[in-house]
Amino acid sequence: MARDKRSYISGMTLHIPFDNSYAALPDSFYSRVEPEPVKDPSLIAINEPLARELGIDGLDDPMLAAIFAGNAVPDGASPLAQLYAGHQFGQYNPQLGDGRAVLLGETVGKDGIRRDIQLKGSGRTPYSRMGDGRAWLGPVLREYVVSEAMHALGVPTTRALAAVRTGERVVRERPLPGAVLTRVAQSHLRVGTFQVFAARGDIASLQTLFDYAVARHYPEATDPATFLDAVMRRQAALVAQWLSLGFIHGVMNTDNCSISGETIDYGPCAFMDSYHPATVFSSIDRFGRYGYAAQADIIVWNMAQLATALLSLMPDPEASVEAFTAKIHAMPEMIRAEWLSRFGKKIGIAQAVPEDATLITNLLALMEDSETDFTNTFRGLVDGTARDLFADPTGFDQWTETWTARIDGEDDPEGAMRAANPVLIPRNHRIEEMIQAAVNGDDSLFHRLNAAYAAPYEDAPDYEDLRRGPLPTEVVQATFCGT
Ligand code: AMP
Ligand code: MG
Repeated sequence: MARDKRSYISGMTLHIPFDNSYAALPDSFYSRVEPEPVKDPSLIAINEPLARELGIDGLDDPMLAAIFAGNAVPDGASPLAQLYAGHQFGQYNPQLGDGRAVLLGETVGKDGIRRDIQLKGSGRTPYSRMGDGRAWLGPVLREYVVSEAMHALGVPTTRALAAVRTGERVVRERPLPGAVLTRVAQSHLRVGTFQVFAARGDIASLQTLFDYAVARHYPEATDPATFLDAVMRRQAALVAQWLSLGFIHGVMNTDNCSISGETIDYGPCAFMDSYHPATVFSSIDRFGRYGYAAQADIIVWNMAQLATALLSLMPDPEASVEAFTAKIHAMPEMIRAEWLSRFGKKIGIAQAVPEDATLITNLLALMEDSETDFTNTFRGLVDGTARDLFADPTGFDQWTETWTARIDGEDDPEGAMRAANPVLIPRNHRIEEMIQAAVNGDDSLFHRLNAAYAAPYEDAPDYEDLRRGPLPTEVVQATFCGT
Protein backbone atom coordinates (compact mmCIF):
# COMPACT_ATOMS: atom_id res chain seq x y z
CA MET A 1 0.00 0.00 0.00
CA ALA A 2 2.77 2.40 0.93
CA ARG A 3 4.34 2.03 -2.49
CA ASP A 4 1.05 2.92 -4.22
CA LYS A 5 0.94 6.09 -2.17
CA ARG A 6 4.40 7.16 -3.24
CA SER A 7 3.29 7.04 -6.87
CA TYR A 8 0.46 9.43 -6.07
CA ILE A 9 2.84 11.85 -4.41
CA SER A 10 5.04 12.28 -7.45
CA GLY A 11 2.25 14.04 -9.36
CA MET A 12 0.90 16.09 -6.47
CA THR A 13 0.45 19.83 -6.90
CA LEU A 14 -1.13 20.37 -3.49
CA HIS A 15 1.39 21.93 -1.18
CA ILE A 16 0.90 22.00 2.56
CA PRO A 17 3.76 23.81 4.32
CA PHE A 18 4.14 21.27 7.12
CA ASP A 19 6.20 22.16 10.15
CA ASN A 20 5.72 19.30 12.58
CA SER A 21 6.47 19.58 16.28
CA TYR A 22 4.35 16.84 17.86
CA ALA A 23 6.10 14.15 15.82
CA ALA A 24 9.36 15.26 17.45
CA LEU A 25 8.03 14.42 20.94
CA PRO A 26 8.98 11.06 22.49
CA ASP A 27 7.43 7.84 21.16
CA SER A 28 5.33 7.50 24.31
CA PHE A 29 3.08 10.31 23.02
CA TYR A 30 1.72 8.63 19.89
CA SER A 31 1.83 5.76 17.45
CA ARG A 32 3.01 6.31 13.93
CA VAL A 33 0.26 5.15 11.62
CA GLU A 34 -0.73 5.92 8.05
CA PRO A 35 -4.32 6.61 7.09
CA GLU A 36 -5.97 3.54 5.53
CA PRO A 37 -6.86 4.08 1.88
CA VAL A 38 -10.52 4.01 0.90
CA LYS A 39 -12.22 2.62 -2.16
CA ASP A 40 -13.50 5.54 -4.14
CA PRO A 41 -12.87 9.01 -2.72
CA SER A 42 -14.93 11.95 -3.94
CA LEU A 43 -14.63 15.50 -2.67
CA ILE A 44 -17.66 17.05 -0.96
CA ALA A 45 -16.02 20.32 0.04
CA ILE A 46 -12.73 22.09 0.42
CA ASN A 47 -12.62 25.20 2.61
CA GLU A 48 -10.60 27.51 0.37
CA PRO A 49 -10.43 30.57 2.65
CA LEU A 50 -9.14 28.40 5.49
CA ALA A 51 -6.65 26.67 3.16
CA ARG A 52 -5.31 30.08 2.19
CA GLU A 53 -4.93 31.12 5.83
CA LEU A 54 -2.91 27.95 6.40
CA GLY A 55 -0.63 28.71 3.47
CA ILE A 56 -1.85 25.70 1.47
CA ASP A 57 -1.77 25.98 -2.31
CA GLY A 58 -2.31 23.78 -5.31
CA LEU A 59 -5.98 23.24 -4.54
CA ASP A 60 -6.61 22.46 -8.21
CA ASP A 61 -4.87 19.14 -7.61
CA PRO A 62 -6.96 16.44 -9.31
CA MET A 63 -5.92 14.18 -6.43
CA LEU A 64 -7.57 16.43 -3.82
CA ALA A 65 -10.21 13.85 -2.92
CA ALA A 66 -7.60 11.09 -2.62
CA ILE A 67 -5.40 13.28 -0.42
CA PHE A 68 -8.18 14.28 1.97
CA ALA A 69 -9.42 10.69 2.08
CA GLY A 70 -5.98 9.58 3.22
CA ASN A 71 -5.21 7.62 0.04
CA ALA A 72 -2.26 9.83 -0.74
CA VAL A 73 -0.12 11.28 2.01
CA PRO A 74 1.19 14.75 1.15
CA ASP A 75 4.87 15.55 1.24
CA GLY A 76 6.11 16.68 4.62
CA ALA A 77 3.37 14.95 6.62
CA SER A 78 4.36 12.70 9.54
CA PRO A 79 1.14 10.80 10.19
CA LEU A 80 0.50 9.65 13.74
CA ALA A 81 -2.31 8.84 16.17
CA GLN A 82 -2.13 10.66 19.49
CA LEU A 83 -2.39 8.93 22.84
CA TYR A 84 -4.71 10.25 25.54
CA ALA A 85 -6.99 9.02 28.29
CA GLY A 86 -10.04 10.62 29.86
CA HIS A 87 -13.08 10.56 32.07
CA GLN A 88 -16.09 9.47 30.04
CA PHE A 89 -19.31 10.35 31.88
CA GLY A 90 -17.28 10.51 35.06
CA GLN A 91 -15.55 7.12 34.63
CA TYR A 92 -11.83 7.14 34.06
CA ASN A 93 -10.75 5.27 30.94
CA PRO A 94 -6.97 4.79 31.17
CA GLN A 95 -6.47 4.58 27.44
CA LEU A 96 -8.35 6.28 24.67
CA GLY A 97 -6.35 8.00 21.94
CA ASP A 98 -7.08 8.73 18.29
CA GLY A 99 -9.06 5.64 17.39
CA ARG A 100 -10.33 6.99 14.09
CA ALA A 101 -8.10 9.96 13.43
CA VAL A 102 -4.61 10.61 12.14
CA LEU A 103 -2.65 13.79 12.63
CA LEU A 104 -0.97 14.58 9.32
CA GLY A 105 1.14 17.34 10.77
CA GLU A 106 1.13 21.04 11.59
CA THR A 107 1.39 24.28 9.68
CA VAL A 108 2.17 27.76 10.93
CA GLY A 109 -0.45 30.02 9.33
CA LYS A 110 -0.18 33.55 8.03
CA ASP A 111 -1.27 34.71 11.49
CA GLY A 112 1.76 32.97 13.02
CA ILE A 113 -0.43 30.41 14.78
CA ARG A 114 0.57 26.76 14.65
CA ARG A 115 -2.27 24.42 13.77
CA ASP A 116 -2.81 20.68 13.49
CA ILE A 117 -4.20 19.16 10.32
CA GLN A 118 -5.97 15.93 11.16
CA LEU A 119 -7.97 13.38 9.20
CA LYS A 120 -10.97 12.05 11.11
CA GLY A 121 -12.52 8.77 9.98
CA SER A 122 -9.26 7.68 8.35
CA GLY A 123 -9.15 4.10 9.53
CA ARG A 124 -7.98 1.96 12.40
CA THR A 125 -5.10 2.88 14.69
CA PRO A 126 -3.55 1.14 17.71
CA TYR A 127 -6.14 3.05 19.80
CA SER A 128 -9.23 1.90 17.92
CA ARG A 129 -10.23 -0.69 20.53
CA MET A 130 -13.46 -2.23 19.19
CA GLY A 131 -14.08 0.56 16.65
CA ASP A 132 -13.67 0.42 12.88
CA GLY A 133 -11.73 3.69 12.68
CA ARG A 134 -14.31 5.12 10.34
CA ALA A 135 -16.93 7.84 10.37
CA TRP A 136 -20.17 8.00 8.47
CA LEU A 137 -21.27 10.93 6.39
CA GLY A 138 -23.72 12.36 8.96
CA PRO A 139 -21.29 13.31 11.73
CA VAL A 140 -18.71 14.47 9.19
CA LEU A 141 -21.13 16.94 7.62
CA ARG A 142 -22.52 17.92 11.02
CA GLU A 143 -19.04 18.75 12.29
CA TYR A 144 -18.18 20.58 9.07
CA VAL A 145 -21.25 22.83 9.18
CA VAL A 146 -21.42 23.34 12.93
CA SER A 147 -17.72 23.99 13.50
CA GLU A 148 -17.61 26.50 10.65
CA ALA A 149 -20.77 28.14 11.98
CA MET A 150 -19.22 28.35 15.44
CA HIS A 151 -16.19 30.04 13.93
CA ALA A 152 -18.40 32.56 12.14
CA LEU A 153 -20.27 33.12 15.40
CA GLY A 154 -16.93 34.10 16.94
CA VAL A 155 -16.46 31.03 19.13
CA PRO A 156 -12.99 29.47 19.47
CA THR A 157 -13.27 26.17 17.67
CA THR A 158 -11.58 23.57 15.56
CA ARG A 159 -12.35 24.11 11.89
CA ALA A 160 -13.20 22.06 8.84
CA LEU A 161 -10.78 22.05 5.93
CA ALA A 162 -12.28 19.32 3.77
CA ALA A 163 -14.88 16.59 3.59
CA VAL A 164 -14.69 13.55 1.33
CA ARG A 165 -16.97 10.60 0.65
CA THR A 166 -15.06 7.33 0.83
CA GLY A 167 -17.20 5.30 -1.55
CA GLU A 168 -17.40 2.69 1.19
CA ARG A 169 -20.19 1.82 3.59
CA VAL A 170 -19.73 1.83 7.31
CA VAL A 171 -22.00 -0.26 9.46
CA ARG A 172 -23.76 1.59 12.27
CA GLU A 173 -27.41 0.89 13.12
CA ARG A 174 -27.47 0.15 9.40
CA PRO A 175 -24.96 0.47 6.56
CA LEU A 176 -24.29 4.15 5.86
CA PRO A 177 -22.04 6.05 3.47
CA GLY A 178 -18.56 6.61 4.86
CA ALA A 179 -16.70 9.94 4.91
CA VAL A 180 -13.52 11.59 6.14
CA LEU A 181 -13.31 15.05 7.68
CA THR A 182 -10.11 17.07 7.64
CA ARG A 183 -10.04 19.07 10.81
CA VAL A 184 -7.83 21.95 11.84
CA ALA A 185 -7.12 22.75 15.49
CA GLN A 186 -4.75 24.99 17.42
CA SER A 187 -3.73 21.60 18.81
CA HIS A 188 -5.36 18.36 19.83
CA LEU A 189 -3.98 18.48 23.37
CA ARG A 190 -6.74 17.57 25.76
CA VAL A 191 -7.19 17.37 29.52
CA GLY A 192 -6.99 13.63 28.83
CA THR A 193 -3.50 14.00 27.35
CA PHE A 194 -2.31 15.22 30.77
CA GLN A 195 -4.32 12.56 32.54
CA VAL A 196 -2.79 9.63 30.71
CA PHE A 197 0.76 10.39 31.84
CA ALA A 198 -0.21 11.47 35.35
CA ALA A 199 -2.24 8.29 35.89
CA ARG A 200 0.67 6.16 34.72
CA GLY A 201 3.07 8.02 36.99
CA ASP A 202 5.15 8.89 33.91
CA ILE A 203 6.25 12.24 35.26
CA ALA A 204 9.01 12.70 32.68
CA SER A 205 6.44 12.57 29.84
CA LEU A 206 4.05 14.74 31.83
CA GLN A 207 6.77 17.36 32.21
CA THR A 208 7.57 17.19 28.48
CA LEU A 209 3.88 17.60 27.67
CA PHE A 210 3.60 20.53 30.05
CA ASP A 211 6.59 22.31 28.50
CA TYR A 212 5.17 21.65 25.04
CA ALA A 213 1.71 22.96 25.95
CA VAL A 214 3.15 26.07 27.59
CA ALA A 215 5.30 26.87 24.57
CA ARG A 216 2.49 26.24 22.13
CA HIS A 217 -0.47 27.82 23.93
CA TYR A 218 0.45 29.67 27.11
CA PRO A 219 3.94 31.14 26.87
CA GLU A 220 2.98 33.52 29.69
CA ALA A 221 2.53 30.61 32.12
CA THR A 222 5.50 30.10 34.39
CA ASP A 223 4.50 26.98 36.32
CA PRO A 224 1.65 24.45 36.64
CA ALA A 225 -0.35 26.85 38.81
CA THR A 226 -0.31 29.76 36.37
CA PHE A 227 -0.88 27.32 33.51
CA LEU A 228 -4.00 26.01 35.24
CA ASP A 229 -5.22 29.58 35.73
CA ALA A 230 -4.73 30.31 32.05
CA VAL A 231 -6.54 27.18 30.83
CA MET A 232 -9.39 27.85 33.27
CA ARG A 233 -9.74 31.41 32.02
CA ARG A 234 -10.09 30.27 28.42
CA GLN A 235 -12.47 27.47 29.31
CA ALA A 236 -14.61 29.78 31.44
CA ALA A 237 -14.86 32.22 28.55
CA LEU A 238 -15.62 29.41 26.11
CA VAL A 239 -18.42 27.84 28.10
CA ALA A 240 -20.00 31.24 28.79
CA GLN A 241 -19.96 31.83 25.07
CA TRP A 242 -21.62 28.46 24.41
CA LEU A 243 -24.32 29.37 26.93
CA SER A 244 -24.86 32.75 25.31
CA LEU A 245 -25.56 31.06 21.98
CA GLY A 246 -27.64 28.15 23.26
CA PHE A 247 -24.95 25.67 22.26
CA ILE A 248 -24.82 22.26 23.89
CA HIS A 249 -21.62 20.31 23.30
CA GLY A 250 -23.16 17.03 24.38
CA VAL A 251 -20.05 15.02 25.39
CA MET A 252 -17.87 17.12 27.67
CA ASN A 253 -15.70 14.17 28.65
CA THR A 254 -12.21 15.22 29.71
CA ASP A 255 -10.82 13.78 26.48
CA ASN A 256 -13.07 16.17 24.55
CA CYS A 257 -11.91 19.20 26.51
CA SER A 258 -9.13 21.03 24.72
CA ILE A 259 -6.15 22.63 26.41
CA SER A 260 -6.12 25.49 23.90
CA GLY A 261 -9.68 26.45 24.86
CA GLU A 262 -11.27 25.61 21.53
CA THR A 263 -14.54 23.78 21.06
CA ILE A 264 -13.47 20.30 19.98
CA ASP A 265 -14.90 16.88 19.13
CA TYR A 266 -18.30 17.74 17.79
CA GLY A 267 -20.42 14.68 18.42
CA PRO A 268 -24.05 14.87 19.41
CA CYS A 269 -23.84 18.64 19.76
CA ALA A 270 -26.88 20.82 19.21
CA PHE A 271 -28.22 24.35 19.47
CA MET A 272 -31.25 24.82 21.65
CA ASP A 273 -34.45 26.02 19.97
CA SER A 274 -36.95 26.91 22.72
CA TYR A 275 -35.27 27.90 25.93
CA HIS A 276 -35.01 25.46 28.79
CA PRO A 277 -31.94 25.24 31.03
CA ALA A 278 -32.17 21.45 31.30
CA THR A 279 -32.15 20.85 27.56
CA VAL A 280 -30.33 17.67 26.55
CA PHE A 281 -30.12 16.22 23.06
CA SER A 282 -27.46 13.56 23.19
CA SER A 283 -28.93 10.08 23.09
CA ILE A 284 -26.17 8.76 25.32
CA ASP A 285 -26.51 11.47 27.98
CA ARG A 286 -29.27 9.74 29.91
CA PHE A 287 -28.85 11.71 33.13
CA GLY A 288 -28.34 15.12 31.60
CA ARG A 289 -24.75 15.35 32.83
CA TYR A 290 -23.91 17.47 29.79
CA GLY A 291 -27.17 19.38 29.41
CA TYR A 292 -27.28 23.08 28.52
CA ALA A 293 -26.93 24.70 31.96
CA ALA A 294 -24.92 21.80 33.43
CA GLN A 295 -22.02 22.75 31.15
CA ALA A 296 -21.02 25.53 33.55
CA ASP A 297 -20.58 22.97 36.34
CA ILE A 298 -19.02 20.19 34.34
CA ILE A 299 -16.26 22.39 32.99
CA VAL A 300 -15.22 23.03 36.58
CA TRP A 301 -15.16 19.28 37.20
CA ASN A 302 -13.03 18.83 34.08
CA MET A 303 -10.61 21.52 35.23
CA ALA A 304 -10.38 19.73 38.59
CA GLN A 305 -9.17 16.68 36.67
CA LEU A 306 -6.56 18.81 34.93
CA ALA A 307 -5.52 20.26 38.28
CA THR A 308 -5.14 16.75 39.69
CA ALA A 309 -2.88 15.76 36.80
CA LEU A 310 -0.82 18.94 37.13
CA LEU A 311 -0.28 18.37 40.85
CA SER A 312 2.11 15.55 39.95
CA LEU A 313 4.43 18.17 38.50
CA MET A 314 4.72 20.07 41.76
CA PRO A 315 7.82 19.49 43.88
CA ASP A 316 5.59 18.52 46.82
CA PRO A 317 2.15 17.62 45.39
CA GLU A 318 0.51 17.19 48.81
CA ALA A 319 1.53 20.68 49.81
CA SER A 320 -0.07 22.15 46.69
CA VAL A 321 -3.45 20.46 46.99
CA GLU A 322 -4.98 23.31 48.95
CA ALA A 323 -3.82 26.03 46.56
CA PHE A 324 -5.02 24.09 43.49
CA THR A 325 -8.34 23.34 45.14
CA ALA A 326 -8.82 27.03 45.87
CA LYS A 327 -8.29 27.78 42.19
CA ILE A 328 -10.95 25.28 41.18
CA HIS A 329 -13.34 26.71 43.75
CA ALA A 330 -12.83 30.15 42.23
CA MET A 331 -13.81 28.99 38.74
CA PRO A 332 -17.62 29.22 39.08
CA GLU A 333 -17.21 32.92 39.84
CA MET A 334 -15.02 33.29 36.75
CA ILE A 335 -17.75 31.67 34.64
CA ARG A 336 -20.45 33.84 36.25
CA ALA A 337 -18.51 36.96 35.33
CA GLU A 338 -18.10 35.79 31.72
CA TRP A 339 -21.77 34.83 31.60
CA LEU A 340 -22.81 38.24 32.91
CA SER A 341 -20.68 40.01 30.35
CA ARG A 342 -22.02 37.92 27.43
CA PHE A 343 -25.67 38.05 28.46
CA GLY A 344 -25.37 41.73 29.32
CA LYS A 345 -24.43 42.42 25.71
CA LYS A 346 -27.34 40.28 24.56
CA ILE A 347 -29.70 42.77 26.20
CA GLY A 348 -27.73 45.80 25.04
CA ILE A 349 -25.53 46.50 28.06
CA ALA A 350 -21.90 47.03 27.09
CA GLN A 351 -20.53 46.32 30.55
CA ALA A 352 -22.98 44.58 32.79
CA VAL A 353 -22.63 44.90 36.55
CA PRO A 354 -23.72 42.21 39.04
CA GLU A 355 -27.03 44.02 39.66
CA ASP A 356 -27.91 43.39 35.99
CA ALA A 357 -28.02 39.63 36.53
CA THR A 358 -31.62 39.81 37.75
CA LEU A 359 -32.75 41.59 34.62
CA ILE A 360 -31.19 38.83 32.54
CA THR A 361 -32.49 35.92 34.61
CA ASN A 362 -35.97 37.47 34.69
CA LEU A 363 -36.05 37.47 30.91
CA LEU A 364 -34.79 33.88 30.81
CA ALA A 365 -37.50 32.86 33.29
CA LEU A 366 -40.17 34.41 31.05
CA MET A 367 -38.66 32.62 28.06
CA GLU A 368 -38.64 29.33 29.91
CA ASP A 369 -42.29 29.72 30.97
CA SER A 370 -43.42 30.58 27.45
CA GLU A 371 -40.96 28.19 25.78
CA THR A 372 -39.90 30.91 23.39
CA ASP A 373 -37.10 30.39 20.92
CA PHE A 374 -33.76 31.31 22.52
CA THR A 375 -32.12 32.77 19.41
CA ASN A 376 -35.19 34.54 18.05
CA THR A 377 -36.17 36.08 21.38
CA PHE A 378 -32.79 37.74 21.81
CA ARG A 379 -32.53 38.87 18.20
CA GLY A 380 -36.14 39.99 18.50
CA LEU A 381 -35.03 42.53 21.12
CA VAL A 382 -33.24 44.33 18.29
CA ASP A 383 -35.97 44.30 15.67
CA GLY A 384 -38.96 44.51 18.01
CA THR A 385 -40.33 41.04 17.26
CA ALA A 386 -39.56 39.45 20.63
CA ARG A 387 -42.95 40.36 22.10
CA ASP A 388 -44.78 38.41 19.38
CA LEU A 389 -43.10 35.22 20.55
CA PHE A 390 -44.89 35.28 23.91
CA ALA A 391 -48.39 33.78 23.91
CA ASP A 392 -49.20 36.09 26.82
CA PRO A 393 -46.91 39.13 26.61
CA THR A 394 -47.92 40.61 30.00
CA GLY A 395 -44.72 39.54 31.77
CA PHE A 396 -42.58 40.51 28.83
CA ASP A 397 -44.17 43.97 28.70
CA GLN A 398 -43.39 44.53 32.38
CA TRP A 399 -39.84 43.32 31.85
CA THR A 400 -39.48 45.66 28.86
CA GLU A 401 -40.27 48.68 31.04
CA THR A 402 -37.44 47.89 33.46
CA TRP A 403 -35.13 46.96 30.60
CA THR A 404 -35.79 50.13 28.60
CA ALA A 405 -35.02 52.21 31.67
CA ARG A 406 -31.78 50.30 32.24
CA ILE A 407 -30.40 50.66 28.72
CA ASP A 408 -31.45 54.28 28.44
CA GLY A 409 -27.98 55.47 29.36
CA GLU A 410 -26.10 53.00 27.15
CA ASP A 411 -24.18 54.36 24.16
CA ASP A 412 -25.15 51.81 21.55
CA PRO A 413 -27.43 49.10 22.89
CA GLU A 414 -28.60 48.14 19.43
CA GLY A 415 -25.05 47.64 18.18
CA ALA A 416 -24.21 45.52 21.21
CA MET A 417 -27.27 43.36 20.67
CA ARG A 418 -26.69 42.94 16.94
CA ALA A 419 -23.17 41.75 17.64
CA ALA A 420 -24.20 39.34 20.41
CA ASN A 421 -27.50 37.93 19.11
CA PRO A 422 -27.21 35.96 15.88
CA VAL A 423 -29.93 35.83 13.29
CA LEU A 424 -28.95 32.32 12.29
CA ILE A 425 -27.69 29.32 14.20
CA PRO A 426 -27.35 25.78 12.83
CA ARG A 427 -30.65 24.36 13.98
CA ASN A 428 -30.92 20.61 14.49
CA HIS A 429 -33.79 20.05 12.12
CA ARG A 430 -31.87 21.82 9.37
CA ILE A 431 -28.76 19.77 10.07
CA GLU A 432 -30.76 16.55 10.02
CA GLU A 433 -32.52 17.57 6.81
CA MET A 434 -29.14 18.39 5.24
CA ILE A 435 -27.66 15.02 6.30
CA GLN A 436 -30.67 13.16 4.94
CA ALA A 437 -30.31 14.89 1.57
CA ALA A 438 -26.57 14.16 1.46
CA VAL A 439 -27.15 10.49 2.25
CA ASN A 440 -29.39 10.52 -0.82
CA GLY A 441 -26.61 12.11 -2.85
CA ASP A 442 -27.78 15.73 -2.76
CA ASP A 443 -25.18 18.10 -1.24
CA SER A 444 -26.98 21.32 -2.12
CA LEU A 445 -28.39 21.83 1.39
CA PHE A 446 -24.92 21.28 2.88
CA HIS A 447 -23.53 24.06 0.68
CA ARG A 448 -26.51 26.30 1.35
CA LEU A 449 -26.12 25.95 5.13
CA ASN A 450 -22.41 26.74 4.93
CA ALA A 451 -23.18 29.87 2.92
CA ALA A 452 -25.95 30.95 5.29
CA TYR A 453 -24.02 30.44 8.51
CA ALA A 454 -20.95 32.28 7.27
CA ALA A 455 -22.45 35.63 8.32
CA PRO A 456 -24.75 34.72 11.20
CA TYR A 457 -25.14 38.19 12.73
CA GLU A 458 -26.32 39.88 9.53
CA ASP A 459 -29.95 40.23 8.55
CA ALA A 460 -30.51 37.46 6.05
CA PRO A 461 -33.60 37.91 3.88
CA ASP A 462 -32.49 35.02 1.64
CA TYR A 463 -32.39 32.67 4.58
CA GLU A 464 -35.62 33.63 6.35
CA ASP A 465 -36.61 29.94 6.31
CA LEU A 466 -33.53 29.06 8.38
CA ARG A 467 -34.56 31.44 11.15
CA ARG A 468 -37.61 29.69 12.41
CA GLY A 469 -37.56 26.94 14.99
CA PRO A 470 -38.74 23.44 14.12
CA LEU A 471 -42.39 22.67 13.46
CA PRO A 472 -43.73 19.99 15.80
CA THR A 473 -43.06 17.39 13.10
CA GLU A 474 -39.49 18.64 12.62
CA VAL A 475 -38.34 18.59 16.24
CA VAL A 476 -35.16 16.56 16.66
CA GLN A 477 -35.51 14.62 19.90
CA ALA A 478 -32.02 13.17 20.10
CA THR A 479 -28.65 13.53 18.47
CA PHE A 480 -26.13 10.76 18.14
CA CYS A 481 -22.38 10.38 18.45
CA GLY A 482 -20.20 9.90 15.44
CA THR A 483 -19.18 6.45 16.57
P1 AMP B 1 -15.51 10.63 21.16
O1 AMP B 1 -16.17 10.71 22.50
O2 AMP B 1 -16.44 10.50 20.00
O3 AMP B 1 -14.56 11.74 20.95
O4 AMP B 1 -14.67 9.27 21.12
C1 AMP B 1 -14.14 8.65 22.27
C2 AMP B 1 -13.07 7.65 21.90
O5 AMP B 1 -13.56 6.63 21.04
C3 AMP B 1 -11.88 8.24 21.17
O6 AMP B 1 -10.72 7.59 21.63
C4 AMP B 1 -12.15 7.90 19.73
O7 AMP B 1 -10.98 7.85 18.96
C5 AMP B 1 -12.79 6.54 19.85
N1 AMP B 1 -13.66 6.24 18.71
C6 AMP B 1 -14.82 6.84 18.40
N2 AMP B 1 -15.34 6.32 17.28
C7 AMP B 1 -14.49 5.37 16.85
C8 AMP B 1 -14.46 4.47 15.72
N3 AMP B 1 -15.44 4.45 14.81
N4 AMP B 1 -13.41 3.64 15.62
C9 AMP B 1 -12.41 3.65 16.52
N5 AMP B 1 -12.38 4.45 17.59
C10 AMP B 1 -13.41 5.32 17.76
MG1 MG C 1 -13.21 12.64 21.46
